[in-house]
Amino acid sequence: MTSITDLLQKLNKFKQDLHEFSNDNYTILPDSKGMIDRQCPHCTTLFKINSEDYETKMQQDDIFCPNCKVSGTADDFFPEELKEKIKKVIQAAIIDNWNQETPMNDISIQSNAALEMVYVCTNCNIRYATTVSPNACPSCGTTN
Ligand SMILES: [Zn+2]
Ligand SMILES: [Zn+2]
Repeated sequence: MTSITDLLQKLNKFKQDLHEFSNDNYTILPDSKGMIDRQCPHCTTLFKINSEDYETKMQQDDIFCPNCKVSGTADDFFPEELKEKIKKVIQAAIIDNWNQETPMNDISIQSNAALEMVYVCTNCNIRYATTVSPNACPSCGTTN
């Protein structure tokens, strides 16, 4: 039987783990083509950007929608569905931590399935993919 002391100890450990987890302690894995997901806050078009190019070649807080060309920050272009997915994965990790004391590090979230067509911008060379025929490069806004 679990005593109150045991339960309090468990609760304290849980609080500690939760506290250590607090700062964005998860990884988003790119899809099979090395792409990460983005979504336009204006027209809701889903698109993808090569994760390497995203890290090394782009101004991440100056992203263009490849469909309607609206521009915004990385936060603006974070897909709603991905936010929901992250919430669910983290909730599950919290429950596992409580029930089985599974550590709350090493949480990874899978990107959506890869899109068939990959485009390369003729101006800035970043690789991207969209669910529609692109009107602009998500990095430099150039019309291809
Ligand atoms: Zn748009
Ligand atoms: Zn470009």
